[in-house]
Amino acid sequence: MTRSAMQILITAGPTREYLDDVRFLSNASSGKMGYALAQAALEAGHKVVLVSGPTALAPPAGSEFHAVETTGEMYDKCVGHFPECDGVIGAAAVCDYRPRERISGKIGKTGKPLQLELVETPDILAELGRRKQAAKQWVVGFALESRTPRENALRKLKAKGCDAIILNHPSAIGSDESRIELIDKGGQTVANCIDSKIGIARAIITWIDAHLARS
Ligand code: C5P
Repeated sequence: MTRSAMQILITAGPTREYLDDVRFLSNASSGKMGYALAQAALEAGHKVVLVSGPTALAPPAGSEFHAVETTGEMYDKCVGHFPECDGVIGAAAVCDYRPRERISGKIGKTGKPLQLELVETPDILAELGRRKQAAKQWVVGFALESRTPRENALRKLKAKGCDAIILNHPSAIGSDESRIELIDKGGQTVANCIDSKIGIARAIITWIDAHLARS
């Protein structure tokens, strides 16, 4: 059976949260998983809107690419493009906190400890989960967990309104390979894969095509 092409929103890479004009908080995400998902979705005949934080990777040819830096910018792009998409895969390693204020210029040394006050960033996937049109759109998240992984993944699946969540491990960060468990909305493990990120991405897109695509 030929399935109809979808437009898929994919988030990838890290975000950056600036302390001042030259320093930021971030993480070691390479963006490889998100870009592999974009590649696999394009190969499967879908359209891709890729919203990415800073990475060293070239955007897959044929994707609609939006480069962002901060979580706020990623949030704005995703909320703006989600209504025209059939679903979203949140593969970005989004900063959970940002400095309360961004100082203009460069913070100078004073010889005393510097205290930073951090506030939570908006949860992009949870917001898209709230906004999704249940009969038409789907939401797939990632959960990178080191402790009590399954419980945390199941909690995030529900809290963020996801139709499926992909559990992976911190060792996936920066690596070309990963080990994932795909958990559906009912909390059932429907796939376990150890593979290259492109192999995993193809398996995830095949599963989404079979189970979440609305014809
Ligand atoms: O960081 P956390 O484990 O909560 O991430 C789970 C999922 O939520 C991932 O798919 C991630 O891309 C997404 N997320 C997000 N916005 C955030 C935090 C996480 O979209 N502020």
